[in-house]
Amino acid sequence: MATKLVALGCIVYGAAETGRVDVLVNNVGHGTYGAVEDVPMDEARRRREVNVFGAARLTQLVLPHCVADRGRSSPAGCTAWPSTRGPHAPTHRLHRTALVTHPAPHRGEPVPLLAPGVIHIAISKTNNAYLIEGDDGLTLVDVGSGKAVDLLLRTMTELGRDPADLNRIVLTHAHPDHVRGAPALREHTGARVLIHAADAAWLSDGRVPSDGRSSPAARWFDQLPAAHWTPFKADATVEDGELIAGSGGLRVIHTPGHSPGHIALLHEPTRTVLVGDAVFHARLLGYGPATFAAEPAARASGAARIPTDVTAVGFGHGAPLTGPGVDAFQAFLAKQR
Ligand SMILES: [Zn+2]
Ligand SMILES: [Zn+2]
Repeated sequence: MATKLVALGCIVYGAAETGRVDVLVNNVGHGTYGAVEDVPMDEARRRREVNVFGAARLTQLVLPHCVADRGRSSPAGCTAWPSTRGPHAPTHRLHRTALVTHPAPHRGEPVPLLAPGVIHIAISKTNNAYLIEGDDGLTLVDVGSGKAVDLLLRTMTELGRDPADLNRIVLTHAHPDHVRGAPALREHTGARVLIHAADAAWLSDGRVPSDGRSSPAARWFDQLPAAHWTPFKADATVEDGELIAGSGGLRVIHTPGHSPGHIALLHEPTRTVLVGDAVFHARLLGYGPATFAAEPAARASGAARIPTDVTAVGFGHGAPLTGPGVDAFQAFLAKQR
C-alpha cells in the first residue's frame, strides 16, 4: 500500500512497512533575488547548502531504497526535481553522478533508467525507443525514423557500449514511425530484426497495405511516399507468449488492433511493460488514434491482454510512467474492461 510521508518540505511516496520508496518530491529550497553585487556571500552559501547539498543528502538517503526495490532513480522515477533553471544545473550533476542516465541530445535533459536494465530513449519529442540489457547483448525495442539511427548509435556509445553489442531489434509493429531506421541500424550493428508474423509482410512491402488501415483518410495518407520506408525483411518472427532468447527476459504479448501483428513486451525481471502503440500517453492515456488503426474495434481487447501488475510502463508515444503514475495506467485499462 502506498504511504505518503512528509518531512521538512519533502514528500516521500512509498510503502512504510517495507521501506520501499517510489517517489521523492524535494520541495526544500529557496532563492535570493537581486543584483549579484547586493547578495551577501553568506546568504549565497546558505542557499547552496540547502539547494545543492540538501538535495544531495536526500538523494543519498533515498536512493538505496529505490535501487534495492526497482532501481528507479530519475526525474521520471524515484526522484523528481520540480525546479527552475537556476537549481537545475546542480541537480543535473547529481543525476550524472548518482544515477544511470544518458543525455538526450534533442532536449539536453537526462533520460531515465526506466528500470534496472531498461533504458528509455526519447528519439523525438513524442517517439520513444527502449534499450534492454540482456544475457546476450543489447535489445532495442523500436527504432523510429531514419534520423534516429545516429542518436541511437551515439546513445549506445555514451553508455559505454559498442554498437556491435546490439544483437536484436524488436519492432512492436510495422508503422513507419517505428521501423524506418531499422535497416540502417541493422547494417551498422549486425543486429537481427524481429517482428510478429502478422506484420512481417508489411516490412517487406515497405508500406502499410491498402487494407492495413481502417479509415479512408489514413489509406490516402499511406499512398504518400513520406509514409513509406525502404522495404526490408525481418530476420525472424515472434509469437504470443514467446520469451525472446538472449533479451534478458522480454515476453511477447500479442495485442492486435492498432495493427494485426502489434505486440507489447513485458520485461519480466522488472515487470516493466513496453506497450508500443497499443496505448498512447499523450496528454491523457488512450488507445492509438482510430484513424491509423487496422481494426479500431479490436484495440480494447488487444490492450486488455497487457498485464497491469507492472512497475513501469513505456509507451511508443509519450512519457513513460513509473511509481504512482502506474496507477493511472492500471485505472485506464481497468475502466475499459
Ligand atoms: Zn503505430
Ligand atoms: Zn507510432
